[in-house]
Amino acid sequence: EGSALGVDIGGTNIKWVHRAGTAVLARGTLPTPAAGPAQVAATIAEMADERTVEAIGVALPGHLTRDLRSTTTVPNIDGDWQGFPLADTLEHATAKPVLLMNDARAFASAELALGSARGHTDVVFMTMGTGIGGAIALDGRVLRGPGDRIGEIGHMTADPGGEPCGCGARGCLETVAGGRALAAVWSRSLASRGTGSQGRSLTPEDLVRAARSGDATARGILGSVGMVVGTVLGSVLAQLGVSTVVVGGGVAPAFDMMRPAVESALRDRRSLIGPVTLLAAELGPYAGATGAALHTTAQPLAVPSTS
Ligand code: BGC
Ligand code: ZN
Repeated sequence: EGSALGVDIGGTNIKWVHRAGTAVLARGTLPTPAAGPAQVAATIAEMADERTVEAIGVALPGHLTRDLRSTTTVPNIDGDWQGFPLADTLEHATAKPVLLMNDARAFASAELALGSARGHTDVVFMTMGTGIGGAIALDGRVLRGPGDRIGEIGHMTADPGGEPCGCGARGCLETVAGGRALAAVWSRSLASRGTGSQGRSLTPEDLVRAARSGDATARGILGSVGMVVGTVLGSVLAQLGVSTVVVGGGVAPAFDMMRPAVESALRDRRSLIGPVTLLAAELGPYAGATGAALHTTAQPLAVPSTS
């Protein structure tokens, strides 16, 4: 059976999985080069050279051109990704077919095929990290659409006129509930109490830890962010008539603390969608890379000419 390399490019790390059919042969993590897409491509090509693979699937945290060969807006990674021909560059460097996809859609495909959403047909997926990703499965298939853009929940407006977002707009859900936003609101809160962070830069985990240990302000922050997340999620679910949600991503522990507020916001939608089932993702940090690898074998490919 075809062996594929699945790669998931994140703002901090690149995760990869080498799969043959259902078997995972190897997997690993390396730092994302900060110099931009050309260097990221070179790193992936080097890694692909070290393994015998038939195809390469690459998931990335942003948008693609309609032909799915180049990147457009990639809100949260350094470098100029606008119009970078990532698929062509990688095919030239590796002489392997390369398929690009969005990281949240990759996550959703993997969770649908192998994880939390197995057996479900209609599901909304949300990944919480530095950015907020989303995907929609209907009738058992993850919707992609032109440029693989369906389900971009992170850039739905949650706070009109709010903070600037990496995408160029203001007040996107990501600017309220993304990892950077959670860290920023927590550091402002500590500063206003005169506690500060002793020069250390704060992470969303710091906020979650404080909330877990009973800090009322931290709990309040996660509660009000949870209301916003629940409100946006509720709109998406109501629009689709879907009542199952899978949540994953590195900041998913913050979601656990937001859960009562999210559920309360979702109760307002009961008459349209009934009770909502919130499921935790099961595949862990390699879900995106797994989805990217699965995607390459889902459709047979010819090796492209590298002229
Ligand atoms: C991007 C999405 C991506 C998400 C998670 C967002 O900022 O626009 O495409 O899926 O971050 O990485
Ligand atoms: Zn945005």
